[in-house]
Amino acid sequence: MNSSTADIPGSAEEIHRFDTEVEQLLGLMINALYSNREIFLRELISNASDALDKLRFEALTDEQLKGLDADPRIAIKVDAENHRLEIEDNGIGMSREEVIDNLGTIARSGTARFLEQLSGDRKADAKLIGQFGVGFYSAFIVAERVTVETRRAGLPADQGVRWRSDGKGEYTLEAIERPAQGTRIMLELSEDHHDLADPGRVRGIVQHYSNHVSFPIRMRGDTDDDGDAQALNDTQALWTRPKTEISDEEYREFYQGISGDFRDPATWAHHRVEGAQSYSMLLYVPGQAPFDLAWNRDDRRGLKLYIQRVFIMDAAEQLVPRYLRFIRGVVDSADLPLNISREILQDNPLLARIRAAVIKRSLDMIEKLATDGGEAWQTFQREFGNILKEGVIDSGEHRERVAGLLRFASSTQSEEHAVSFADYLERAGEKPEAIWYLTAESLAQAKASPHLEAFDEAGVEVLLLTDPIDAWLVGHLSEFKDVPLKSAASGEFGGDNASDDADDATRALCGRIKKLLGERVGNVTPSKRLRASASCITGEEGGMNLQMRRMLRQAGQPVPETKPDLEINPSHALVTRLADTEDEVLAAELAHLLLDQALLIEGGELADPAGFVARVNRLLAGDSTSGPASDDQTSLESS
Ligand code: ADP
Ligand code: MG
Repeated sequence: MNSSTADIPGSAEEIHRFDTEVEQLLGLMINALYSNREIFLRELISNASDALDKLRFEALTDEQLKGLDADPRIAIKVDAENHRLEIEDNGIGMSREEVIDNLGTIARSGTARFLEQLSGDRKADAKLIGQFGVGFYSAFIVAERVTVETRRAGLPADQGVRWRSDGKGEYTLEAIERPAQGTRIMLELSEDHHDLADPGRVRGIVQHYSNHVSFPIRMRGDTDDDGDAQALNDTQALWTRPKTEISDEEYREFYQGISGDFRDPATWAHHRVEGAQSYSMLLYVPGQAPFDLAWNRDDRRGLKLYIQRVFIMDAAEQLVPRYLRFIRGVVDSADLPLNISREILQDNPLLARIRAAVIKRSLDMIEKLATDGGEAWQTFQREFGNILKEGVIDSGEHRERVAGLLRFASSTQSEEHAVSFADYLERAGEKPEAIWYLTAESLAQAKASPHLEAFDEAGVEVLLLTDPIDAWLVGHLSEFKDVPLKSAASGEFGGDNASDDADDATRALCGRIKKLLGERVGNVTPSKRLRASASCITGEEGGMNLQMRRMLRQAGQPVPETKPDLEINPSHALVTRLADTEDEVLAAELAHLLLDQALLIEGGELADPAGFVARVNRLLAGDSTSGPASDDQTSLESS
């Protein structure tokens, strides 16, 4: 495919400016990836491979393109003398418009967010950029000038385009004659990188990064045709080979090829199913999460659907539920119709069965990681544990199975993500009343919670739920293995709502405090469970606890007005002081203090922190009878 190109008579170079985002990315990337420079070849080959996939896919349905995909290939030419490298494919190519869109802007939506995350620390940034996949622009890591010549398959030969740039803010466009469809990328290496124009180097890089690209990659000399040359890569689709013949190293390389992640996967599963329906799948659990996994709920990278070896599309959406969006791999069906569209896929019964199998195998893999334990499992928990929780919230289907994979901190265990519901039940003995949990903003806050006092004394374990998503999680999971989940803050433990057997004096005291606090509280009740603490907030069971309210507020959602219930410790000195005083101003100060401190411990914010501080100061200074008293509106600003 010697692409003789010629300028179209009368056509002139036009100068265009890059999008600012491109400029930013270029500047950052060239420095950050200097020591990782070899990835440019992986990126360009991966684009060539994508272009061949696209042509093949479009040729399935587009008469005009039929046959153009007959001999797909990627050719690399090394010109040591002039320090040049060329990568050429006969794939789908680009029209002029597409060149401008694809090589002048960054279309990907996450880019701005990504750029914000860069720290300026070269090593850390290089890692992030590597994960992000810098794509085409990585050519500028090694090249001082890049020329792209391309023609979209199906357009006439005179609709070729030449794009040139030195990566410094501008690029030029020019119409050219290009008989061959597809794209040729020519790099003029900068002086630091002249050593890359070496056939041995290039072969090594291709075999390292691109061995599992499914089209032949051949090296081309100056004159000879590449038609017969041996491919540098192993083009037989890995998943079609028998498991026993594939080494772990090959599995890992394949993962890196499809995921763009240069780290090793945590584990993988390779299955071939023959029968009424035949398909293969090769699934991976990554070692680490991509940087945007948590907020990018629509991440659809890396789970690829093939039909009879032909790449059809990235189809994670069709193949896995959201909470498994981190799974990477390929699924190859022998039975789905080749000319399938995304819409048809949506409710295809064959695909539904494959999807069920992918979910099952994915959960199997994760359960195996759990059983094996150790560092890999801990890493998994850290990286993906929270995503998995979405499975309890989103899907009824595998709720209990997914719930079984979750791990939490616990009031009786030292490690942070160590305890499963099953562990809890095992330790709790026969038929426990509940799986007790406490939601808090941090482990430290949870451990200091007054709600734990009675549990600790009774030797009852409490799971400490400290991730923001946990408040939702427990809202969706009411029981595990028929044992109800209950909040330790609900006031239910040990039937310890003491109102019923409280003496008259205590009941009167509660009534007095409620009156003093007015609109700020719901119920005020005596507590049996508080030991060291004077008061606590109760009643989040079934309702919305404080963290949940805060999350809603941060998300700009309306937060229902509710009043906190207050539980007081009748034997605490602060409470007895209140009980004993006849000074109503002092009593009001103390009552507000009991409520404010309970809110603070819960991680709540006070609507009037200044009022709180003033009150504490008045009490400490002993002049609380003279200051303004109960009229201030330190209300529960639904923290
Ligand atoms: P990505 O591959 O993740 O989309 P890239 O920066 O690598 O991002 O490429 C940007 C776009 O440029 C591609 O999506 C594709 O549309 C286009 N492109 C790049 N290289 C080629 C090529 N060899 N043939 C056709 N299109 C290409
Ligand atoms: Mg790319």
